[in-house]
Amino acid sequence: MKTSAIPTVAAYIGLGSNLASPVTQIKAARNAIAAIAGIKELAFSSLYQSLPMGPQDQPDYVNAVMSIETSLSPTDLLCCLQRIEQAQGRIRRGERWGARTLDLDILIYSGQLIESPELTVPHNGIAERSFVLYPLYEIAPQLVIPGKGNIADLIANCPLAGLKRLD
Ligand code: ATP
Ligand code: MG
Ligand code: MG
Repeated sequence: MKTSAIPTVAAYIGLGSNLASPVTQIKAARNAIAAIAGIKELAFSSLYQSLPMGPQDQPDYVNAVMSIETSLSPTDLLCCLQRIEQAQGRIRRGERWGARTLDLDILIYSGQLIESPELTVPHNGIAERSFVLYPLYEIAPQLVIPGKGNIADLIANCPLAGLKRLD
């Protein structure tokens, strides 16, 4: 029988947590993402500690970035990531940028530019957030972010803003 390979694309996922043992949350999320059919992990950044955005009366965050190869569509990928957030106890209280056990954002999906009610790709804020750009640069220093430009140029204009590498 003739078999044809399923086409895959590269995508980048941002991981963040500041509740219930953030380092453990990030590691569990990495394993859960890599275990999804149609996803293969390509690289995983160091863990970083960052200051909260928005409400300041919450713990510091632990962040990382993961690159994957996937055969999932952008919406199917988002759905899988939201299921993992739920499984790890994410509760949305309506407060923007409030504390959370796990946040999984699609940073980049292939070269695509997506603007739909549930999905903006590349992710909003990707070009200004130190806790996204620095881990992304660590695993993809040559990356060109669709519609935004060269990661090295973006990093040059992005202060660390309290970001620290943990390992
Ligand atoms: P931010 O998106 O500014 O980092 P957040 O991650 O805290 O904030 P969430 O509460 O996790 O925001 O998500 C709110 C909604 O954002 C989700 O329901 C999802 O539909 C939408 N969304 C839009 N673009 C993306 C993306 N690229 N990755 C993940 N969610 C996205
Ligand atoms: Mg987010
Ligand atoms: Mg999110």
